Amino acid sequence: MPTPIVSNEPVCEIDLDAEGKHHGYVRIQFSSDRSAYGWQPVPIMSIKNGEGPVVVIIGANHGDEYEGVSIASGLYQELDVGDVTGQIIFLPALNAPAFYAGRRTSPLDETGEANLNRMFPGVQNGSPTEMICWWVTERLLPRTDVIFDLHSAGKSIDHHPSVKIRLIGDEAKDALQMRILELFGAPLGIVGDRVTETTLSSAAARHEIIYVSTELGGAGKIRPWIRDFAYNGLKRCLREMAVLPASLDLPPPEHKVALKAMQKGDQYIFAYKDGMFEPRVNLGDVVEDGQFAGYIWDLKAPWTEPEKLYFNKGGVVFCKRTPALCEVGDTLFFTLLDYEEQT
Ligand SMILES: [Zn+2]
Repeated sequence: MPTPIVSNEPVCEIDLDAEGKHHGYVRIQFSSDRSAYGWQPVPIMSIKNGEGPVVVIIGANHGDEYEGVSIASGLYQELDVGDVTGQIIFLPALNAPAFYAGRRTSPLDETGEANLNRMFPGVQNGSPTEMICWWVTERLLPRTDVIFDLHSAGKSIDHHPSVKIRLIGDEAKDALQMRILELFGAPLGIVGDRVTETTLSSAAARHEIIYVSTELGGAGKIRPWIRDFAYNGLKRCLREMAVLPASLDLPPPEHKVALKAMQKGDQYIFAYKDGMFEPRVNLGDVVEDGQFAGYIWDLKAPWTEPEKLYFNKGGVVFCKRTPALCEVGDTLFFTLLDYEEQT
């Protein structure tokens, strides 16, 4: 008889079919110099109460995006089993090794810069980040109806807060998604028209799962006004889906959403010079085609004129680089156009 060969695949400590409120870890096997027989802990929590939609709430898909961690953790602690119809699965720090390291990318994989959201569908017995992606693809997505993937740009970028959906051609699902854009309470609501290969969004698209993502600011910090409207907004969406009770008392959306289309290549300003980036517009400003955007100063020749930056395409300023120092190839800005203008 051949010797059985067993998998080293990720293992979820909690039973996702169990009714009630449970927490534990998805264990990612990782034999390291510090811990030969150890595993990396990815926190997971579940609240399940009978039949109904299965909603997954994800934070720290990128490890330096903190609003989603606070929102997912806070909501799990606030809710009782009796508040929920169906199931909410919480993964507050999906890219846990990156989150623990205070980094966007995981330092554990061979590259030292493993971007979880570029590694789907993952590998069963791969690197730690590949294994997290594999577990999500194979073990989580088949049981999921709706995902809220709470991003916020990370340390190098700041965003005017937004929520984004992608229409999928199903009348009922798309009506719910458009309602989610209104209910979330973000200033901007982006209607996507594509997904990028190897992202969680693309993995969800293959299962026709409703996938809602956000950019809740960024810059590697948590701002109360953003965290609070998003926390209320997520609960308003869950109430709309009847996962939380209709009787739940919540404020109306904090912002009237402005619908925007996804950015295209001509809406970016990239750095074509190493130096010190000085923005001269603010996030949320509405700018014209060709409008002045800022400077790049020469670090070692401050007596020379700085390079002037201009928007090619106007629109609302949605994305701005955070650190002042920049290098050729860095994204400095991009804008968004109104959704109607694109259709
Ligand atoms: Zn992100």
